[in-house]
This record gives sequence, structure tokens and C-alpha cells, in this order.
Amino acid sequence: MTKYVFVTGGVTSSLGKGITAASLGRLLAARGLRIVNQKLDPYINVDPGTMNPFQHGEVFVTDDGGETDLDLGHYERFTGIALRRDSNVTTGSVYQSVIAKERRGDYLGDTVQVIPHITNEIKDRIRKLAEEDIDVVITEVGGTVGDIESLPFLEAIRQMRKDVGPENTCFVHVTLVPYLSHTEELKTKPTQHSVAELRSRGIQPDIIVVRSGRGIDDPARRKISLFCDVDTEAVIDAIDVDNLYAIPLSLHEGGFDAAVLRSLGLGAPDPDLASWSAMVRRMDGAAPEVTIGLVGKYVDLPDAYLSVVEALKHGALAAGVRLDLRWIPSDDVDGLLSQSYLEGVHGICVPGGFGIRGIEGKIQAARYAREEGIPFLGLCLGLQCAVIEYARGVLDLDGAHSAEFDPTTTHPVIDLMAAQQSVEDMGGTMRLGIYPAKLVPGSLARELYGEELVYERHRHRYEVNNRYRKALEAAGMRLSGLSPNDHLVEIIELPSHPFYIASQFHPEFRSRPDEPHPLFAGLMKAARRHLESADAEVDTTIDVSQPTNDGP
Ligand code: GLN
Repeated sequence: MTKYVFVTGGVTSSLGKGITAASLGRLLAARGLRIVNQKLDPYINVDPGTMNPFQHGEVFVTDDGGETDLDLGHYERFTGIALRRDSNVTTGSVYQSVIAKERRGDYLGDTVQVIPHITNEIKDRIRKLAEEDIDVVITEVGGTVGDIESLPFLEAIRQMRKDVGPENTCFVHVTLVPYLSHTEELKTKPTQHSVAELRSRGIQPDIIVVRSGRGIDDPARRKISLFCDVDTEAVIDAIDVDNLYAIPLSLHEGGFDAAVLRSLGLGAPDPDLASWSAMVRRMDGAAPEVTIGLVGKYVDLPDAYLSVVEALKHGALAAGVRLDLRWIPSDDVDGLLSQSYLEGVHGICVPGGFGIRGIEGKIQAARYAREEGIPFLGLCLGLQCAVIEYARGVLDLDGAHSAEFDPTTTHPVIDLMAAQQSVEDMGGTMRLGIYPAKLVPGSLARELYGEELVYERHRHRYEVNNRYRKALEAAGMRLSGLSPNDHLVEIIELPSHPFYIASQFHPEFRSRPDEPHPLFAGLMKAARRHLESADAEVDTTIDVSQPTNDGP
């Protein structure tokens, strides 16, 4: 029988509910349980694919082409388990199915209502994940308790406890206990109110995960236990840590997974966290620091590039360096042209994106990397910018562009391919999800991956225009990854450059801290070499111009 854990949040948003759910996934999986994570999102968009990353952060793409909430990225990185699109349910998608069923006449005679029709649909989506081989479904409810939008979700999980039995459900509530410095006190009242709100919806939490910054003391723990009616061992202290990946370890020390198992009546061996803690220690002790310029237009909301940043961290781990990220606004072309932004970076990454703003800045960054021999990794739009730059700068095709940004360009080196469908449904026109790419023997891509055929996640409409392939190759660009039928360019690289590679897909979605992605590992290793050669040059200069008194 599959068991269910529901994670809700109270007091404020951004308390790290997603990381808490992801960490629980890691801890239960490390105890040998078969788990799956899920996120319920209270907004009315059918999926986050059409939302602006400025507002919502990145859109995370699953193998099956789901455009999903960024928390799924946390789940995958922490558990190593690839999720499907049904791990993300939005209010919009729930209403869409209920209304479709109503139109089909499935509810003939009934008045279609939030309870039971919407709540039944939500419960179906949760139960759908409870396949025969799953021990625990961990479902996070987005938003904060008290929001109007999340009420149907709370009602659905309340009903779930009744449907499958209290012994098969565990309610985890993540809250904040602020510290008032002038009275030097931890304040538990907001948590009490939040639990009261949850109870008014019929949900009594079994476990309370407390965020407080520096940790809670025994009196605060006892108070929460008493007022919120949970065992003192079920009040879990989630202290702040610098490294995200240390959170499963500190939650385990705080007894989180043990409390969940107790509440579910599940027995499981102690988790094996040895290699995960070794990984966290390696991350924390890593040196030297390598500076990577991340050139994008959403630099004011770092969540917009969440998976890219995490993948760079994973790559840093593989290269034995510490990541120093320099955010570079691609819409400030002057800053990029004067190169003040890029000076001193050891590597450049141009991530994906949509829309014309910032394009010329990204193209400038690709040019700087090519001309200055700086290690470069382009991702999706980053590949497209690298191709445009090469066409303009090396093939001398003036005005070369992507048809996305200049539909009348004489040289659409990036264009829509024939296989594209209609644009009536903005959510449905993209090449989405996992596709194979075969790698050219002897190429950098082939060397980095160590495989001939790789599978990567896509999210784009435009492709390298096949009409320009010959010219690009003749001018020294290697098309080192192609779709198995040779129709689509998947990876480009410059063999004459120390490290210059770009992919039409998004490798960042498949990178894990304990399995860094080869392209990101490659970039960080090349950046390390770049740093070391720069240091070596500096040393030589010092030797010549400033002789020291240090004798042999
Ligand atoms: N806008 C480009 C396209 O649709 C790139 C998309 C992306 O970077 N994800 O092809």
C-alpha cells in the first residue's frame, strides 16, 4: 500500500518547502524506499510554460516534455529520480480536465462543483503517482496556508487522510519562527496561528518543520509542541545552511525522516548518506575560485536560471573548484562591448531564453569568448547566438540572425524547421522533452560524454538552418551532435578554440550534484585550466620584472 506525505507551508512563502520535500525524498530513498515527488501549484495557468521567468523563475522540463515548476528541479537533483509531467499539477490543469469532462457529458445531470468534482480530480492526480512500485508519494502544496487559491488542494489532502486512513498519511507543515532581537526571543505565535488556520481546514499536522535562522531552543520547541499538538520529536529544527545540498543531512540529524516514518508506521533501515556527505564536504572545501560570467536578461531574478546555476555548481565540484558566478546583464550591450563585464572571467555561459531583448549582448559575449579564447558553453538560445555570431564574424554574413528576432533577415542562420506545427496553441509549438543526439567521433562532445548516443531535454522552436550547415563547417565550426536522422543540429563546437561548445538542448536539467553533467564539468575544468594558465603568466611576469630576494 502506497503511503502519502503532504507538505504545506505557513507564515510566509519562500521558506524552502520545495527543498524540504526534496530532502525528504532523498532521505527516504536513501533508506531504500521507493518514492516519487509531486508539486501542486495553485495558479490558473495550465502549466508554467507561458509564464514570465521574471515572475515565476525557470520552467523546468521533464523527460516527457512537461513544462513544470522549478521545484521539480530540486526534487530531481536531490533524489536523482527523473520525474514525469504528472508530478506537477496546477489549478488550471485540474479545471481544464474537469471542464473537458463536463463538456463530454461525464457528469450528466450533476451540478459540477469544487467539492467533489475539483477535489476528486486533485485526488486522482495524487493517487495516479501511487503506482505498484511506489512506497511513498511526497506531495508539496504550493502557496501558503491561508491563501484563497490553495483551498481546494487543502480540502483534497484532508479527504485523502480519510480515504486512505491516517496511518497512511503524514502532514508536514513548514513554518517560520522569527527571532526578535530587542527582546532576544524566538516567537512561536505566527506558527501557532498558521497551524490554527490549517486546523480550520480540517488538517492537523503530524510534523512541524521550523525555519528560524539560527535554530530553536527547547522552550520554543515545547511551546510549539503544546500549542500545535505535535510530539516534541516531531518539531524539526531546520537551521540555515550555506550549502543547499547540506539540508538533507541537517534535517536527518534533526530527526525529520525518522519522524515521518514513525508517523506512517513504516520501518526502514538507516539511510546511507556517506557519499552524499562526502560530496557536501568536497563542495564546502573546494578551491580555487573560478569566475563564470552568466550572460542573461533575467539576472535580477536568479531563480530564472536555477538549473543552470546548480549545474555550474555540479561542474565546479567535478573540476575541484569553487564557483564564483558573475551575473552579466545581456541587455546592456555597451557594457558588454566595452568588455568591462567580461574582463577577468575564466569561463562564459550563455543560457536559454525567448524574445529579442538582450540578444545582441549574448552575441557579443559569444564573440568575446571566441576571440579571447575564453571557455564557452552555450545553452539552447546560447547555441543560436554562437551560430549567429560565427555567421556574422567569420562567414561575413552581414545581418545574419535568427528568424525569431528578425523575420526578414537575408541570412536566417537560425530558423523554424519544416517539422514545426501551427502556432495556435502557444503551449504546443515547441520541441519539448527528451530526444537523442549522436555525437561525432573525435569531437569534444564525444570526448566529454564518453558515449556515442546521448539523450537530452529540449525546449525550443528554432533550429540551426540546414542551408548554412556546409558554410559553417567549411569555416571551421564542427557540428558535433546531430539528431539520429541528421536533420537537426544538436551540438556545435570550435576545434580551434580551447573550449567552445554549445547545445540546442538544455543539459542543465539532467545535471545532478552527485552526477555532474559532462558539458558543465567540461566548462568548469576548462575554466580552471584558463585560470591556471593566467596565473602562470602572472607568475612569469613577476619573475621577470620583480625579482625577489628569496634565494633557492
Ligand atoms: N527562443 C529560442 C527558440 O525558441 C531558444 C529557446 C530556449 O533557449 N529555450 O528556439
